[in-house]
Amino acid sequence: MKILVIEDDQMIGDTLQRALKKSGYTCDWIQEGTQAEALLANGEYSLVILDLGLPHRDGFSILTAVRAKKIETPILILTARDQVSDRVTGLDAGADDYMLKPFALEELEARIRMLLRRHSQQKTSLLSFGALSVNTVSYEVTYESNPVHLSSKEYKLLMCFLEKPKVVFSITQLEDKLYGWNEEVASNAIEVHIHQLRKKIDKKAIKNIRNMGYRLGEL
Ligand code: CA
Repeated sequence: MKILVIEDDQMIGDTLQRALKKSGYTCDWIQEGTQAEALLANGEYSLVILDLGLPHRDGFSILTAVRAKKIETPILILTARDQVSDRVTGLDAGADDYMLKPFALEELEARIRMLLRRHSQQKTSLLSFGALSVNTVSYEVTYESNPVHLSSKEYKLLMCFLEKPKVVFSITQLEDKLYGWNEEVASNAIEVHIHQLRKKIDKKAIKNIRNMGYRLGEL
């Protein structure tokens, strides 16, 4: 899952990016939000962490513009502005959560998981599809009750398919979801990960749709 961090503070942005990567998310970080709607338009991000005090354009204006474009990506405001009126404005403008700085990383990550669950209409951290189960907190995957050991990229790829089981993803879309801007992608990386998923889970787990891409198969 890919998270976009919009934060101008170098230290906070850096800390967030490191922590989120360590927790298995792909994370892109920008220090101002002029391009926010364009970045969010293709749906590659699962969540946005948005600061309010930003150069060029205030976080509220970004939030309002994104929602006006009917982009429904969950947005968590992370700010030092602790006035009730700011919280009300943020939530009314379409933010899904509002968290104050300074913050505890564990709490931020729990809220991220909550928002991702809510957005995918999951009630718990345990996902199941047929014989496959995924615990999205411990990252444990089982198939027909046997543990499946996935690399972090394989896990992320599997989650892309599980989040939208009926959607056919092109290779480019999958690359965008799996890799951050500064990561190099080998030309056949996605095919290799898909091959591994089929090998580790079941060869029917990911379906190839000719000339279009891949979607979740039979589990
Ligand atoms: Ca700021």
